[in-house]
Amino acid sequence: MQTVRTIAEVRAALDRRRPGRIGLVPTMGAFHAGHVSLFAAARPECDTVVVSLFVNPAQFGESSDLDRYPRDEPRDAGLAERAGVDLVFIPVAGEMYPAGFETWVDVESVGHELEGAFRPGHFRGVATVCLKLFNIVAPDTVYFGQKDAQQVEVIRRMIRDLNLRIALRVLPTVRDADGLALSSRNVRLSPADRERALALPRALATKDLARARALLADLDVEYVEVAPFDPPVLAAAVRVGGVRLIDNVVLEGEKR
Ligand code: AMP
Repeated sequence: MQTVRTIAEVRAALDRRRPGRIGLVPTMGAFHAGHVSLFAAARPECDTVVVSLFVNPAQFGESSDLDRYPRDEPRDAGLAERAGVDLVFIPVAGEMYPAGFETWVDVESVGHELEGAFRPGHFRGVATVCLKLFNIVAPDTVYFGQKDAQQVEVIRRMIRDLNLRIALRVLPTVRDADGLALSSRNVRLSPADRERALALPRALATKDLARARALLADLDVEYVEVAPFDPPVLAAAVRVGGVRLIDNVVLEGEKR
């Protein structure tokens, strides 16, 4: 596995390996089994698996959340290598957003509801960094987790609207044995808060909006909604002990 930090190095490394199918897994690091499931899906489907590891400042509203985002590059590199990743791209912010950067991708309606309403500018940052990564790596297929269902919807819309020749693969949410969806932010939950946070997967597992709202009544809820994504989901965001958690379940059999 090769680790590179500049766009020129990514392009040079990939030029040496073409032709062949390239898969890209965009991440912010702090890998857990959810990330590894994306690497594992990409491995047999692609000749070259590229993982980007970039804590994208443009998608963080609260600078405290950005500052506290867990970072452990050596551990991440080891996990990626064991999962068979070929190339890890770890740019600094200035590599992705050099002085004078001023071009943004804004997916208008999908990017502004639900998460977008509570995190203004979040999906503008996500869409922009993803399009940049897609242009740098030129992947045939990109891999995303259903855990971030609205992010998937934003990327799907961007691929369609901007005529990108990229296949989008979405992999199921990986959960801990107790049902909590794996998230890099879970490490910030105290044991007591983690116990309270279990109300989130339990509420969503009902696949029923009214019951989910009732089960979340004791938490600090930002939203619980049925979102008309592809596929439709019951999605929620809550804050537990200062940690913001999102989760969703697919509503099979719902009208699209
Ligand atoms: P992140 O590093 O949080 O930006 O996530 C990178 C990718 O991993 C995104 O496509 C996420 O949707 C996906 N991901 C994060 N958590 C999970 C999970 N628990 N199960 C499956 N995929 C996940």
